[in-house]
Amino acid sequence: MKQKFDIGVIGAGLSGLTLANSLLSKKIKNFILFEKDRILKNDKTYSFWSGPGLLDIRKKLNIKIKKEWSQIEIKVKNESYIIDLGEYRYACYESKSVLKELYKRIVKKGIKVERGVSIKNIKKIKDNWQINLYSKKVLLKKLVDSRPNNEFDDKYPSLKQVFVGSEIISNKKIFNENIATLMDFSESKKSV
Ligand SMILES: Cc1cc2nc3c(=O)[nH]c(=O)nc-3n(C[C@H](O)[C@H](O)[C@H](O)COP(=O)(O)OP(=O)(O)OC[C@H]3O[C@@H](n4cnc5c(N)ncnc54)[C@H](O)[C@@H]3O)c2cc1C
Repeated sequence: MKQKFDIGVIGAGLSGLTLANSLLSKKIKNFILFEKDRILKNDKTYSFWSGPGLLDIRKKLNIKIKKEWSQIEIKVKNESYIIDLGEYRYACYESKSVLKELYKRIVKKGIKVERGVSIKNIKKIKDNWQINLYSKKVLLKKLVDSRPNNEFDDKYPSLKQVFVGSEIISNKKIFNENIATLMDFSESKKSV
């Protein structure tokens, strides 16, 4: 027999888990999450602003800050602008700690999460969506797909933002660790 849910969310990354938590805050519980990875990865950091009028992610999720800045630097050609953030802060968190907390809240409410699943295909059947996994079929009234959309990129010309993280250890002090370089448009020939 097919399992039926009101909503299905593909991908338990930051988008999928944030959406799932929003559904819970609206008292919507008949939904399911599909995630291809079995374990939570710690492959990036998420950075958020905090301060008056903004959501305090640290308090909301009760997580540890990895690094916080009270000043930012913007570099344009040969000029450098250092901006004091006043009451605001820019802080980064380990991706795993953010995802773990969001995930915990979902599991606690008894939401079904299918981890380590591979989606064979998705079919539209009348007003519903049918997710065909290799092991079973799941019927949904609504579907949110948070996977990176390569089809969209092929169909429409779009600007893609690519993040590549490299860690470089140097003997010399290069950065001021207390100032976050938010944007660097300097035209150094030595830039990598
Ligand atoms: C090194 C690095 C640093 C970054 N730093 C920041 C930052 O500081 N601030 C910031 O806002 N953003 C940052 N980003 C961007 C960040 O990745 C995105 O903002 C965020 O992860 C997007 O979340 P998402 O849920 O849309 O996508 P993802 O995090 O990519 O989540 C998609 C999920 O879908 C799952 N999935 C994929 N295919 C399937 C499938 N077939 N079936 C089921 N599940 C599937 C994936 O396993 C994944 O869990 C950084 C990215 C990188 C790589």
